[in-house]
Amino acid sequence: MNFATRFAPSPTGPLHLGHAYSALLAHDMATAAGGTFHLRIDDLDQSRSRTCWETQIYDDLAWLGINWPQPVWRQSDRLPTYRAALERLWQRGLLYPCTCTRADIRAAASAPQEGAPLHGPDGLIYPGTCRPDTPPPGPMPDTPLRLDMRRALAAAGTPVAFSETGCGPDGETGHIAPPDMVANVGDVALARPGMGASYHLSIVCDDAEQQITHVIRGQDLISATQIHVLLQRLLDLPTPVYHHHRLIRDDTGKRLAKRDDARAIATYRDEGKTSADIRAMVGL
Ligand code: GLU
Ligand code: ZN
Repeated sequence: MNFATRFAPSPTGPLHLGHAYSALLAHDMATAAGGTFHLRIDDLDQSRSRTCWETQIYDDLAWLGINWPQPVWRQSDRLPTYRAALERLWQRGLLYPCTCTRADIRAAASAPQEGAPLHGPDGLIYPGTCRPDTPPPGPMPDTPLRLDMRRALAAAGTPVAFSETGCGPDGETGHIAPPDMVANVGDVALARPGMGASYHLSIVCDDAEQQITHVIRGQDLISATQIHVLLQRLLDLPTPVYHHHRLIRDDTGKRLAKRDDARAIATYRDEGKTSADIRAMVGL
């Protein structure tokens, strides 16, 4: 199969040095393998996505010397695909409705009998407030939905493991079998209020449909990968090779975030830096 990878930024702010490293690394690896580098726009969260940021993503990446095939996929155009995937999981009895707010979850997770609240890939682990004893009957409702992790793991059968060629949790490479996902991940949200689908569900559908063979992304996402591999099992989708790369940090060792405008690619461009300067700054 032909090597295919992707860079999937959210148009919610400027790209910074960390994004530049991720995009350049994926582009370099695709070029070296004679494969394809896809750009995708992760604009599911319409309340935070802006066209001006999307335009700036195109400008910044082109300035970095990166090119990609057209048309660029936008997640906001793909809601029917995500809906169909949710329907399949619903039919298998693996989803249930839950409209708990963040505050509800915080309150339930820190109730005295629950002990110290535990954090998973999506923040506080959901304490299971709305989880039914038996799968809910009838058609899938148009509400936020969670994955029943116990049922999902049973339905997936084989343990969730994946190949890692970058830096795994301890910097190792090889096969990773994640720890107990009931305790460490819990019932993740797959359909979110106002967004149709969650990041986990949408990215898994997109990677499969675009025939991505290598997912190259930051080490901060490694705890999400086990969820993605589980969803691939449940939806009969292939599991790509994962390469989680080191994170670019600021001078104090903190990893860069969208709000670090000082390290925005656009700022370096305005200062007259070149893409070779950026490569040197991120150690490529
Ligand atoms: N939009 C996601 C992000 O920027 C994509 C993550 C991924 O590559 O899976 O974090
Ligand atoms: Zn709930």
